[in-house]
Amino acid sequence: MTSQTIIIGGGISGITAAVELAEAGKQVVLIEKENYLGGNVSRFNNYFPKLCPPSCGLEINYRRIRSNPRISFYTGASVRSVYGTNGDYRVTIDLKPRLINNNCTSCGLCAEVCPEERPAKLGRTAGEKAAYINSGLAFPMKYVIDPEVCKREDCGKCLEVCDYDAIQLNASTAELEIQAGKIIVATGWILYDAANIEEYHYKEEPDVVTNQEFERMLAAATREGEKLTRPSDEKVPGRIAFIQCAGSRDVNHLPYCSAVCCSTSLKHALTLSEHYPESKSEIFYIDLRLAGRNENLLNRAESTEQITLTKGKVGRVKPAEDGKSLLLEVEDITGATRRQVSFDMVVLAMGLTPVPLAADLQVNEYGFYLPDQVSGLIPTATCKRPMDVSSSVKDATASALKAMQR
Ligand SMILES: Cc1cc2nc3c(=O)[nH]c(=O)nc-3n(C[C@H](O)[C@H](O)[C@H](O)COP(=O)(O)OP(=O)(O)OC[C@H]3O[C@@H](n4cnc5c(N)ncnc54)[C@H](O)[C@@H]3O)c2cc1C
Repeated sequence: MTSQTIIIGGGISGITAAVELAEAGKQVVLIEKENYLGGNVSRFNNYFPKLCPPSCGLEINYRRIRSNPRISFYTGASVRSVYGTNGDYRVTIDLKPRLINNNCTSCGLCAEVCPEERPAKLGRTAGEKAAYINSGLAFPMKYVIDPEVCKREDCGKCLEVCDYDAIQLNASTAELEIQAGKIIVATGWILYDAANIEEYHYKEEPDVVTNQEFERMLAAATREGEKLTRPSDEKVPGRIAFIQCAGSRDVNHLPYCSAVCCSTSLKHALTLSEHYPESKSEIFYIDLRLAGRNENLLNRAESTEQITLTKGKVGRVKPAEDGKSLLLEVEDITGATRRQVSFDMVVLAMGLTPVPLAADLQVNEYGFYLPDQVSGLIPTATCKRPMDVSSSVKDATASALKAMQR
C-alpha cells in the first residue's frame, strides 16, 4: 500500500493535478510520453479566452514543479502496462533515451553543429536538428537528441563541442516499475483524422489544413518570426475559410460536439486580422457554440471588418480551375442560396478524440474514459470529454482531491 499518486499525461491537466497534490503534501510521479511537459497547450500560438501565449499558465506551473521536492517526473516515458487495484497499482514504463543527460546547460552548441534534420511534422519547427529543444517553452529546459535521426558515433560532432559531458550517444531504452495507490489518467486528446472526410480533400490538397496545424503555423508566424505562407506555394494566403464542425456533430464521423472548435476558429480569425490586416477570413458554421467569456470572441469577430461569419454547411472543397485556389460549395442558410466561393486556404475545425491507454478503464461509446466510484484509476479532463483549458484545470483539481479522499 502506498500513498503515492501516478499521473499519466503531462499536459496542462496532468501538471495541474501534480502540483495540487504535491502542494497538499502528497508524493507524485508525473509520466509524459513526449520529451517535454506541457502537452498540446505548449504548442499553441495563444489561447482563449484572453488570447495570451501558452507561457501564461504553463510557466508558473513549471516553477511550482521545480520548487516542489514531492514531484518527480519522467518524460519520453511510455506506459507499457498498468496492474493492480485501488491502493496498490504498479505501472511499467519504457524510458526513451534522451542521448543528452542532466549536465546539459541548454547552450545549444550541439544543435548548431548537428548535420541531421528531423523530418517535417506537425508541432516541429521547420529544419529542426536531431539535437533539439522544444521551441519556446521547453520543460525540462534541456536539449534532447532524436535517436531515430542521429547517426551516433558515425557522426559525433556534438561530442566535440559539448564541454559538460552531457552527450551520451550510447544510451538505450530503460524499463522502470513505479508503485502508486491511485492513478490520475490525464492522457488528453488527439485530433480526429481529417482524411476521413473525403469531400474536404485534406489528403490531396496541401492548402487544406487542420485547426491544429493552423495553430502551429500561426505560432511560427507570430512568435517565431516566420511568415504565414500556404503550404502549396509558400505565398501569404489572402482569403482563408474556416469550416466548422468538420467531422463533428456528424453521424458519419463524430456525433458529438467538440466544445472548443468554434472558439478556436474565432481565435484564429482574430489573430489573423491582427497580424495580417490584409487577410480576409470567412467562418462557415452550423451554429456557434461559445460558453462564458468566449462570447467576447464572437463580439470582437462581429465587429472586425476582415471577418465574415456565414451560417451554412460546407458540402465540398475542390480545386478551382485556375489551379491556384480552392472552391467551397456552401449552403448559405441566411441568404437561402447555394454558393461557390474561392479561397487561398481552408482550415478544418476538427474535433477531439481520446487517446487510448492500456489500462482497465471504462469507456463510453466514443472511447472517452468514464469515471467510477470504486477504482483508483481517476480519468481527468479531455480524456473524459472535449473541454477547454479552463475546464480541464478545474477538472484536474477535482481529480487531485478525489485521489486524496478515496
Ligand atoms: C486546434 C485547437 C486549439 C485549441 N485552443 C484552445 C484555446 O485557445 N483555449 C482553450 O482553452 N482550449 C483550447 N483547445 C483545447 C485544449 O487543447 C485542451 O483543453 C487542453 O489541451 C487539455 O489539456 P490536457 O492536459 O487534458 O490534454 P493534452 O494537452 O492533450 O495533454 C495530454 C498529455 O498526455 C500525454 N499522453 C497521452 N498519452 C500518454 C501515455 N500513454 N503516457 C504518457 N503520456 C501520455 C500527451 O503526450 C500530452 O502531453 C484547443 C484545441 C484545439 C484542437
